[in-house]
Amino acid sequence: MELRNCPDCGKVFTFISRNLCPACIEKEEASFNKVEEYLEENTGATISEISRATGVAEEKIIFFLRAGRLVPIGGKHLLECESCGKPISSGRFCAGCQAVLSSSLREAGASRPPAEEEAPLIRRPEPGLRQKGKMYTADRYRKTRR
Ligand SMILES: [Zn+2]
Ligand SMILES: [Zn+2]
Repeated sequence: MELRNCPDCGKVFTFISRNLCPACIEKEEASFNKVEEYLEENTGATISEISRATGVAEEKIIFFLRAGRLVPIGGKHLLECESCGKPISSGRFCAGCQAVLSSSLREAGASRPPAEEEAPLIRRPEPGLRQKGKMYTADRYRKTRR
C-alpha cells in the first residue's frame, strides 16, 4: 500500500493507479461531465470557451484531450504538438513529429550491424523472370514516353 499526497488538495490517499485522491477523482469526473455536456450543446468550442463556460481549468480540459477522453469534433485541432507547436487533435505530437520520433526510435534499435545469418533469408528472384520483367518495364517506359 502506497500513501501519497494528492497534488490537487494535498490530502493523503492510497495510491492505486491515478495520482489523485478519490475526492479529487470524483471532482474530475464531475468536471468531465460538465465539459461533455457543454460540448454537446456547443460543438466545436475552443478550450478557453469551454473553460470559461464550465469553470473547469484549461489544464484539465487539455488533460482530458491528451488522455483521449475528449475528442475535438470535426477534427478540430485544439492541442499543440509538444515538439513543434503545430495544432493537433489528440495525443502529444503531430503526425510529422510522431513519425520522426518513431523513426529515430527505429534507427536507435537498428543501429547494430545486421546479422550475417539474415542475408540468405532474402528471396532472390529467378534470373529469367527478372530479365523478362526488366525488358517489359523498359518497353512500357519507352512507349509511355513517346
Ligand atoms: Zn485531492
Ligand atoms: Zn510536431
